[in-house]
Amino acid sequence: MGQADVHISFDELRSLLRDIFLRNGTSSMVADSLAANCAGCERDGAISHGIFRIPGYMASLATGWVDGKAKPDVNPVSSSFIRIDARNGFAQPALAAGAQAIKTAVESTGIAIVAIRNSHHFSALWPDVEPFAREGLLALAFVNGLANVVPHGGRTPVYGTNPIAFATPVAGGEPLVVDQATSVMANGEVRLHALANSPLPPGTGIDSAGRPSTDPHAILAGGALNTFGGYKGSSIALMVELMAGALTGGQLSFENDFGDCVGAQTPKAGQLLVIIDPSRGGNARYAQRVSHLCSRLIDAGQDRLPGQRRYATRLNAERFGIPISEDNLVRLKTLAA
Ligand code: NDP
Repeated sequence: MGQADVHISFDELRSLLRDIFLRNGTSSMVADSLAANCAGCERDGAISHGIFRIPGYMASLATGWVDGKAKPDVNPVSSSFIRIDARNGFAQPALAAGAQAIKTAVESTGIAIVAIRNSHHFSALWPDVEPFAREGLLALAFVNGLANVVPHGGRTPVYGTNPIAFATPVAGGEPLVVDQATSVMANGEVRLHALANSPLPPGTGIDSAGRPSTDPHAILAGGALNTFGGYKGSSIALMVELMAGALTGGQLSFENDFGDCVGAQTPKAGQLLVIIDPSRGGNARYAQRVSHLCSRLIDAGQDRLPGQRRYATRLNAERFGIPISEDNLVRLKTLAA
């Protein structure tokens, strides 16, 4: 993506991205949501889901594969279970549309289960869960996607890279946020390796003939990724597929069919979130217990906690600006103009 040689503020980047989304046919509500998400990823150094994704968003919008003006339908079907039909729009505005229903469910029952279907998730999951932890809540998220991952021992892709995220408040500190693909590597990371022509570690995936491959180009051109952690990781991918693609009423990853929408990239699938108020367990010291465990992990020799790299990168960006190559900045300004 070029050398980082200029720095811009989060607000400046968000505003440029907002203009790009608007120019590509989204409503202002959707543009606000996607721009904040994408700029946040770039700021936090989650670059596989930052500005690198803009051409993919544009292609999906241009072909009509995704509806950038979709108005989500929020339907609380019980006191704690909220179904949201994203109406072929993006997942983030659908989640935002459910904010009031989620608040009501958590306040009245201590838990909200949010099942979003008919939606496109093309980003990292931490932006979906971290805000809940900042409000003192636990949040879990499961998302499925495009079939580009083989089940353990398999040769045909069935799963998406099916990420899972978990966020929790920590007494006296930033929320603890875990956000990871259930494939060995996220697809965006493979694409970044392909751009840099750099090989992947052994065990990452297979080529189109089903042979083990460390070549990112071969994995992207008809090959597939492996799930992490052998058969155990494969079963976690299975769980995510069912939670996000079946329980929500969304599509399974292998059911995606771009049809005439050549070049579209956003996976149309589903996402399930579970949001829990920890104070309902009669354990008022929950956040202190998390803090206690985190300290023990570091004492035990773990070099850092999940999310710490992102927070450090965020802090740096807040002080010095978000690093971005001059070429990329010119490209964004042209797209936004
Ligand atoms: P990584 O393997 O880079 O990181 C996974 C998690 O582990 C992060 O929470 C990370 O924290 C943490 N971590 C990394 N290294 C360490 C360490 N040494 N010690 C402790 N914790 C560590 O993520 P992936 O490549 O699996 O996924 C990247 C992104 O891709 C995710 O945001 C995911 O949501 C997204 N994704 C989105 C998909 C979609 O369909 N929308 C599909 C698949 C993935 P930190 O962030 O601080 O590094």
